[in-house]
Amino acid sequence: MRRISQRISGIAESATLAVDAKAKALRAAGRPVIGFGAGEPDFPTPDHIVEAAAEACRDPRNHKYTPAGGQPALREAIAHASAQPIDAGQVIVTNGGKQAVYQAFATLLDPGDEVLIPAPYWTTYPEAVRLAGGVPVDVVTDESTGYRVGVEQLEAARTARTRVLVMCSPSNPTGAVYSREQLAEIGGWAAENDLMVVTDEIYQHLVYGDAEFHSMPVVVPELADRTLVLSGVSKTFAMTGWRVGWMYGPRDLIGAALNLQSHLTSNVCNIAQAAALAAVTGDLSAVARMREAFDRRRRTIVEMLNAIPGVVCPEPQGAFYVYPSVKGLLRGRTSAELATFILDEAEVAVVPGEAFGTPGYLRFSYALSDADLVEGITRIQKLVPTMGG
Ligand code: PMP
Repeated sequence: MRRISQRISGIAESATLAVDAKAKALRAAGRPVIGFGAGEPDFPTPDHIVEAAAEACRDPRNHKYTPAGGQPALREAIAHASAQPIDAGQVIVTNGGKQAVYQAFATLLDPGDEVLIPAPYWTTYPEAVRLAGGVPVDVVTDESTGYRVGVEQLEAARTARTRVLVMCSPSNPTGAVYSREQLAEIGGWAAENDLMVVTDEIYQHLVYGDAEFHSMPVVVPELADRTLVLSGVSKTFAMTGWRVGWMYGPRDLIGAALNLQSHLTSNVCNIAQAAALAAVTGDLSAVARMREAFDRRRRTIVEMLNAIPGVVCPEPQGAFYVYPSVKGLLRGRTSAELATFILDEAEVAVVPGEAFGTPGYLRFSYALSDADLVEGITRIQKLVPTMGG
């Protein structure tokens, strides 16, 4: 007798969470593990946000449900902060960006609908697409284009069943940031072909050097009526544990997604919403300080990784990940086996490219202390000559 549905048994555990859990378990057992696995800032949530939550907690009005779509003030603040002329009714506050991802696909897809996902992709997209009955179609990029997809590649992957294009810039896992021109080209193509767009902007505040963040439906305004924008406070404000994300877009889609959320999870924790309101409306100087630290670590890790023979690490422009090719290091191993080897031998946790649809790479999150970063990469540098081949 079947005990688990086919739909659910087809879903793999999140590889990034799995690596992080293994690293945390080893650390709890007293091992000096250095974790490049988690997409989680090492900083505490800024004080003014924590204070807002503490205050909200003492107000009994905040001990109740909020509207399913979120506290009106928070929805308003998100609408106001967006680069599009939207109102609060076009925003839903979700339990982290992750819930917004699932809800977006559940709202858009019918069985068999195809979703173009530029790879390397964040590991949750294809699973969320499948869970919603859709068919993920990988459009694979590599370091030669800085992991950015082009219209020709997308066009080659498009079929009569293609319904949705997913964009994530700045990208997890590569840190790639699309320029305005690239977004204009891709967005124009999506509009011409009647595609819906899901664009994940959760790293929008984390861009470095000359790179600039642009939102696709702002660059291509005719897309606004066919785009769901996803974001949240986790990465920008070091608030991964608070679980506040959001989605916004055209009213019909948002209304349908809200109906789903009203049955799925109701509202996000009221206190966490108060914290998110303080984050979204507050001073960004703490964010600027974190960004500065990430930028410094980014430059250090790129330099250190490129100094390892067999590793090619393009310089990312956003988020807090690097995604080097380690094809020159594999020596008969897969990148998944290499990641396990590095964890076992050097006690350094990294996530293999298999998790992001492109074997032969490793993802390093540089959201860890400068000292740990240097120690972790030094351990890998020392391990390489012992790797055999
Ligand atoms: N989108 C991307 C691209 C991410 O990397 C993440 C977190 N890893 C999320 C969405 C979701 O983050 P959260 O659920 O913490 O808001």
